[in-house]
Amino acid sequence: MKTLANFIDGQRKPPASGIYLDDVEPATGNLLARIPDSTAVDVNEAVAAAARAFPEWSGLPIAARAECLQRLAGLIQANALELARLESTDTGKPLQLALDVDMARAQANLQFFAGAMTHWTSTCHDMGPVGFNYTRREALGVVALITPWNLPLYLLTWKLAPALVTGNTVVAKPSELTPLTADALCELAREAGIPPGVFNLVHGSGNSCGQALVDHPDIRAISFTGGTTTGRRIATSVAPRLIKTSLELGGKNPALVFDDADLESTLPGLVRAGFTNQGQVCLCSSRLLVHESIHDQLVSRLADLVAALRVGDPTAGDTDQGALISRAHQRKVLSFIEHARDQGGQILCGGQAVQPPGRCNQGYFVAPTVITGLPADCRLHREEIFGPVVTVQGFADEDEAIALANAVDYGLSATVWTGQLRRAHRVAARLQTGIVWINNWLVRDLRTPFGGMKDSGLGREGGEWSLAFFTETKNVFVDGN
Ligand code: NAP
Repeated sequence: MKTLANFIDGQRKPPASGIYLDDVEPATGNLLARIPDSTAVDVNEAVAAAARAFPEWSGLPIAARAECLQRLAGLIQANALELARLESTDTGKPLQLALDVDMARAQANLQFFAGAMTHWTSTCHDMGPVGFNYTRREALGVVALITPWNLPLYLLTWKLAPALVTGNTVVAKPSELTPLTADALCELAREAGIPPGVFNLVHGSGNSCGQALVDHPDIRAISFTGGTTTGRRIATSVAPRLIKTSLELGGKNPALVFDDADLESTLPGLVRAGFTNQGQVCLCSSRLLVHESIHDQLVSRLADLVAALRVGDPTAGDTDQGALISRAHQRKVLSFIEHARDQGGQILCGGQAVQPPGRCNQGYFVAPTVITGLPADCRLHREEIFGPVVTVQGFADEDEAIALANAVDYGLSATVWTGQLRRAHRVAARLQTGIVWINNWLVRDLRTPFGGMKDSGLGREGGEWSLAFFTETKNVFVDGN
């Protein structure tokens, strides 16, 4: 079992408190590592190191910072299998998914922002004989990155790359539930030549370490991805300081399936959208809204496909569904299913915990579950479950489909499945979500704006939106005379 340390000023540092938290493997319930239970003392040290490193780092030519990111991307690629093993062990997700999605994307995040920054242009507003204005983009200073457990390295690098390439220095806090790949990234950052103090990492709990980071007066911006309750708490904490805050929060994403959809491609799409990473992706389509004329056929075929998903050891090559993140989360998901039973819902497949044979028989597994027949106002239609549970509701026409889709507090993403181009655009325009996929799910172009409306967040990430978030805009006027 490994004991982790913080990474401050390029050095490994134990927590000032001397206290450690347990990191548990979700697929087995075994202890994996001990991680620092960091407090404000450790956070202060990390922020001070980042502040010292800021002038030199922000003063480098853009190309030099971009080269550091490219080297880090290369090291992630070279160590992808080892990193994927760490990610799979720490999260419970299938190893192949960790390799194909998480590691591929971590590498792409760094490469993309290295390139994006070197192609970013500033604007000039010409006033003729009066003079002209040009716009500068300046780094902010020390920024805080706070990330969740479902896509640990994927989301950390999604924030780290634009933060660093624009010239900021960073203090990051990964989820206490999944510290391993963030910890490994520190060594790779050192090897990539990122100078001491530019990237610092503090481990610990949200309430202690995370809150201390949020409350630190020298933090110039906070980029947060996680739950809506935590996001709201962070927004409340920082409001008096008027610093930039990017909040990527929860979702309750609808999939609207019209009667003209091509079911041969729609059905596999719905399975992927509902159950990837055991339904623990903020973008997962957990609410299926289906035209009543195809409802019974679709639901029966969907249940067959979902029932065929193999739940088990994340290291096995044929596993489709790994473990949920923790015992507490498994209980929460099962309690939603219990509530569905109490409400008269029909469980078409799944509906129970799974104990795979062998080394994973104490793991936190839940069978992928499809539920119909719930009352319209049921909690399962409105609250984020964040597990392998999909509910189905019928609709009579387009207006009803849109009304159901928009009848939640969240507004992150939606999918629309239809063979009619005009309908697709019409519906997309009326959906209250930051992202709409038509006849697909989770196809990402890193240049596009990513983020949610309503309780799903504030701000957008991706391409120029991330570069703008991590910089301050300054207009300079030059007199023409
Ligand atoms: P969470 O409980 O909100 O935690 C997210 C991060 O915030 C963790 O590092 C957590 O630390 C930390 N934290 C908790 N309390 C804090 C505080 N008071 N101050 C500062 N930091 C604090 O979310 P989660 O359970 O890890 O992640 C699942 C949620 O994330 C879901 O709602 C999901 O939809 C959302 N999510 C959204 C997106 C998106 O792009 N919109 C992407 C992925 C996930 P500890 O873990 O150590 O407590």
